[in-house]
Amino acid sequence: CAKMNISAINPAMPPTTLSVKSRHVAVIGAGAAGLVAARELRREGHSVVVFERGHEVGGTWVYTPQVEPDPLGLDPNRPIIHSSLYSSLRTNLPREAMGYMDFPFVTRPGENRDPRRYPGHREVLLYLKDFAREFGVEEMVRFETDVIKVGILGDGKWKVRSKKSSFNDNNEIISKSNAEFDDEIYDAVVVCNGHYTEPRIADIPGINLWPGKQMHSHNYRIPEPFRDQVVIVIGSSASAVDICRDIAPVAKEVHVASRSVADETYMKQPGYDNLWFHSMIDHAHEDGMVVFRNGKTVLADLIMHCTGYKYHFPFLDTKGIVTVDDNRLGPLYKHVFPPALAPYLSFIGIPWKIVPFPLFEFQSKWIAGILSGRITLPSQKEMMENIQAFYSALEDSSIPKRYTHCIGQSQVEYNNWLATQCGCQGVEKWREAMYSMASEKRRLLPEMYRDEWDDHHLVSEAYEDFIKYPS
Ligand code: FAD
Repeated sequence: CAKMNISAINPAMPPTTLSVKSRHVAVIGAGAAGLVAARELRREGHSVVVFERGHEVGGTWVYTPQVEPDPLGLDPNRPIIHSSLYSSLRTNLPREAMGYMDFPFVTRPGENRDPRRYPGHREVLLYLKDFAREFGVEEMVRFETDVIKVGILGDGKWKVRSKKSSFNDNNEIISKSNAEFDDEIYDAVVVCNGHYTEPRIADIPGINLWPGKQMHSHNYRIPEPFRDQVVIVIGSSASAVDICRDIAPVAKEVHVASRSVADETYMKQPGYDNLWFHSMIDHAHEDGMVVFRNGKTVLADLIMHCTGYKYHFPFLDTKGIVTVDDNRLGPLYKHVFPPALAPYLSFIGIPWKIVPFPLFEFQSKWIAGILSGRITLPSQKEMMENIQAFYSALEDSSIPKRYTHCIGQSQVEYNNWLATQCGCQGVEKWREAMYSMASEKRRLLPEMYRDEWDDHHLVSEAYEDFIKYPS
């Protein structure tokens, strides 16, 4: 416990002299969440070790052409490929809004950089690497180190068990039970392991007897394997919207099934002669036929589940305090702290339908400030009451459990609440407006929104703001 000038360790904070504690913190994962968590924790005066089982920073944004051997990702012992990116992927957010608040995602000098407003995935990886370099984050990262167990000790500290990652010839991470492991003790653990690796699969009556192939979008990379095939894509989120259009130019037919549209939905996509939109699949037959709720029938070769992912923490042992139930991770105060273990266990990046990087940044500042004692949490009882009230409100609005962390519309309010707690600037007005306009444009014009836009005034405002920050 030391007295220090907080603005000296965190330039974003107003100068005050407080009693702050420096903790020894383990961060699990060096993706966009873990990188900013490490920066904020160190700025606040904590000592930080980031565990990363891959070879480099960037997490999801480290593209690989490799896919897992189990195309549906159901086998719990399968070798794991972390990233779910496909080769053609461009961001679905404009770069000005997508970047961290104080490290603008502008075009940076260098060869082969992608200057587009909605750049390809490699540009995002390079941006994250620039971020890590600018703030000296890499020196905190232990690469090729897999966290295999995190458990609470009697004195409230945490034991983190890790081992050197094992890779097979395909560069997939494999579990090797006889590898030697290390045990270390930490005051706190911040979980940043990403949530786009463990597939969720649609439940389809009759699917067990259906003779076609199935896969999850986690294992989709390029359209070529689908040449001349009849493909059914299930889903209506970003991946489904992109992948059906990626495949259509080579496939014989592409049929998109969505559970979020009316049962009678049946529509041919203008501009394509082989892309149809349907309501959800009703059932599949052993003769290969797939029947949609709109009554249409298709003889399909393959069903691709673009049906999202599950929260998955195979390393975490909280003795049943934190559980995942129908994709609700809980109980979590403000989607971050399990009250009974707060503030020594926290999660970054649980909310979805969000602009991820800025949200990770706000959550990281909050966690760092609470761990040092500069910011206080309510009592355990008050946090539990807040969670119960939140769950009741979801139930009253008939929102299913699996949407607990879908904060979408309320993300600005959420981020600004965190900013108030931290005493830092909230979401810029231009970012809020840009996100709304971009989301609407994406919904209305999925083919064009990445290359045509009309929010030039917001882009100008963003760049005026960016002058304050390193680039
Ligand atoms: P990840 O990037 O997944 O990083 C987690 C890290 O933890 C990984 O490096 C992993 O190796 C490591 N790890 C996991 N378990 C362990 C362990 N046990 N031990 C050690 N290390 C471990 N976001 C946007 O802002 N814009 C977009 O356009 C966009 N498009 C997307 C498209 C797709 C297809 C997907 C899947 C996601 C997209 N996202 C997009 C969301 C994206 O996931 C987030 O932007 C962000 O990269 C998530 O960061 P993260 O750090 O939470 O997780």
